[in-house]
Amino acid sequence: AVVVTEPLTVNGVPVKRAKSGKLVAGVAAGTSSDFFKSTSCQFKPKSKNFEHRLTEEAASRAAPSLKGLAKYLSKPGILSLGGGLPSSEFFPFESIDIKVPQVGQFSEQETRESGVQVHAGKHDVIEDKSVFDLSIALNYAQGTGSAQMLRYVTEHTEIIHDPPYSNWQCALSVGSTSSLDMLYRMFVRRGDYVLSEEYMFATAAEALHPMGVKIAGIKMDSEGLIAEDLEETLNNWNEEERGAKKPFVLYLVPTGQNPTGATMSFERRKQVYKVAQKHDLIIFEDEPYYYLQMQPYQGPDAPQAPPPASHEEFVKALVPSFLSIDTDGRVIRLDSFSKVIAPGARVGWIVAPDHIVDKFVRLSEVSVQTASGMSQMILFKLLDETWGHGGYLDWLIHIRVEYTKRRDVLLHACEAYLPGEIASWTPPAAGMFHWIKLDWKQHPHASTKGVRGIEEEILETCIDKGVLLVPGSWFLAEKSIEPTELFLRATFASAPFDKMSEAIKRLGEAIRASFGL
Ligand code: PMP
Repeated sequence: AVVVTEPLTVNGVPVKRAKSGKLVAGVAAGTSSDFFKSTSCQFKPKSKNFEHRLTEEAASRAAPSLKGLAKYLSKPGILSLGGGLPSSEFFPFESIDIKVPQVGQFSEQETRESGVQVHAGKHDVIEDKSVFDLSIALNYAQGTGSAQMLRYVTEHTEIIHDPPYSNWQCALSVGSTSSLDMLYRMFVRRGDYVLSEEYMFATAAEALHPMGVKIAGIKMDSEGLIAEDLEETLNNWNEEERGAKKPFVLYLVPTGQNPTGATMSFERRKQVYKVAQKHDLIIFEDEPYYYLQMQPYQGPDAPQAPPPASHEEFVKALVPSFLSIDTDGRVIRLDSFSKVIAPGARVGWIVAPDHIVDKFVRLSEVSVQTASGMSQMILFKLLDETWGHGGYLDWLIHIRVEYTKRRDVLLHACEAYLPGEIASWTPPAAGMFHWIKLDWKQHPHASTKGVRGIEEEILETCIDKGVLLVPGSWFLAEKSIEPTELFLRATFASAPFDKMSEAIKRLGEAIRASFGL
């Protein structure tokens, strides 16, 4: 007989013995259900192990390091400047009401009456369902995305970027993470190298490692990727030494880069584009933070610069995209509603020449099919039917002001609480990340611990003091390189507005404790 002792998990769900002697799943998690009582919680033997049948790619896929920080979020009182999750105050929905007919009463009349109403903050309730109704949203659809959303993002792209060649197209996606994975599959082979920033979006690197693709990290400064280093890397590419052909894919986050917060100036973009032309590169321009470009930082005592007074002013103030100068059609732009509407919507889009979009759609059709029809409909009702293009720009201007406020509070706190002799930074001009450099050579154990050792120690001290951040080396494009500089990434998107100063105060205490100040 098998003796089951508590606590126990079944299928990862916490279970506990019910009075009847049966196992009840989810009691600890507060989700007890009859289904678990009667079926899956009987004690059963383990399955056979088929891990050896997994492809090399699947088997080598490791859990992302950043997800490992999630366990600290349950620590009482912890303030997170860690994961880049937008605060829910930035989701422009008050509620989404879904009317569902009773099972067994599915008459034609009720089907017609059931629908989704989107209540957009400060805006009217939308009742007109004639353009994009549930019968479209709930059915299979084109791999390009729904006709309505495709029209919306295409018009938007024309207005904002006006690509300088004729045959550009858009296709909806399940967000930029998925777009990027699909584009890697379309352009990168096992054994290849991809070019990227030396500190890069961790998921973009983690997607490549199991594919057997290496990354060549290009040096950065406060304006992001340095064009001269890109050129030098390509000019000096030694196929034998690298064991790979010269790379032709350049993955970039030009605005409010994750993790450094750097924004490439227009001049810098033109320089990089020139190198791309010379070496025939394809640029993956991943721009979820494009619209989070902020008013310039004025220092702790100066009043905040006024927001753009009109839509024209707002659009004019945006640094022109790579797409907008792409005369050759070598830029594939990845856009996403995640950071400006809501990441849970899982909707984004790409812009590229038609022959590339066509293959992207073919891949969508056999993998994700297309972005969720439900999400597309809800977004369309908000963006087009409620807001219209002008209203969307109003919303973008609104969150630009809000993110500017958050950034300024964080920077003021850094100026007040971080030891000036150790910590330095460039104020971010876009996005949601602040990149703090620490002069690690002043650490008492600099010679024995090195950058990574000191980072770990600071992270532990931060968690003890009740604040969460991400060590910079976690974002290194080339993991085998021993970092020579120490950075911490802090986001100003997630923590409660009135707790951000306290979070930085705790960081200051942690740095002082670690450096023995
Ligand atoms: N690209 C970058 C640079 C990001 O920082 C993120 C979110 N952390 C994403 C893409 C993911 O976007 P999405 O939600 O559209 O998949």
